[in-house]
Amino acid sequence: MWPIIDTHSHLFTEEFDTDRTEVLQRAKKQGVTRIYMPNIDETTIDRLLQVCEDNSGYCFPMMGLHPTSVNENFEIALQQVFQCLVTHRNLFVAVGEIGIDLYWDNTFLQQQIEVFDRQVRWALELDLPIVVHCRNAIQYIYKVLLPYKDTTLRGIFHSFTGDSEEAELMLKFNRFMIGVNGIVTFKKSVIPTILPQLPLERLVLETDSPYLTPVPHRGERNESSYICYTLMKVAQVLGLTPEELAAQTSANALRMFGAL
Ligand SMILES: [Zn+2]
Repeated sequence: MWPIIDTHSHLFTEEFDTDRTEVLQRAKKQGVTRIYMPNIDETTIDRLLQVCEDNSGYCFPMMGLHPTSVNENFEIALQQVFQCLVTHRNLFVAVGEIGIDLYWDNTFLQQQIEVFDRQVRWALELDLPIVVHCRNAIQYIYKVLLPYKDTTLRGIFHSFTGDSEEAELMLKFNRFMIGVNGIVTFKKSVIPTILPQLPLERLVLETDSPYLTPVPHRGERNESSYICYTLMKVAQVLGLTPEELAAQTSANALRMFGAL
């Protein structure tokens, strides 16, 4: 057991309604000291705020509109998300999660680009980091972020999927870190071959619960306590002890979210 931070977890979703207390207890028992929670869309705001209020000092909320929730009616959703963000400005540690996802569908690509860009500008105005979701969309993400490269914009590219070129593009943004999750434990994952390319001071760990469950629980619902499997795998690949890796990635996370 090592003190560790889960930088990306959706424990506020209904998948955890029946046993959230136990899930949080298991996380604490496993050494998880903080859980950062990215919003999804306007329908998840209330439960996100409730869970973070019930677990104040342990669960920290971010506010944003997720790219897979973007459609032709995005203005209404975006308005609600923005309203919440400015109303509770001091509660939120980041704008997230935001980005572009072309894995399922590219019907709303133009809308996704616009929504992403607008939320990036909120983050700059409010001086908050962003948490970026990028799936099959690195060239579009890069294009949106490029004009902000030399600004104070900072954040995390979450759920890194392990292509060397993609890593290189992400690392060009000096104030950004890369989030690694349970995918690294999958048998066919190429992330282990890319990990040595990522500077240690720019690496954070996450679960993305309830998704992307690491081996040996693959196929089950994911939860924050399972971050230990990702920690052990990454530590082994990098030739570090789990203690060393947990200490470094936790310090990175605290720095990013302004808690250090
Ligand atoms: Zn997520």
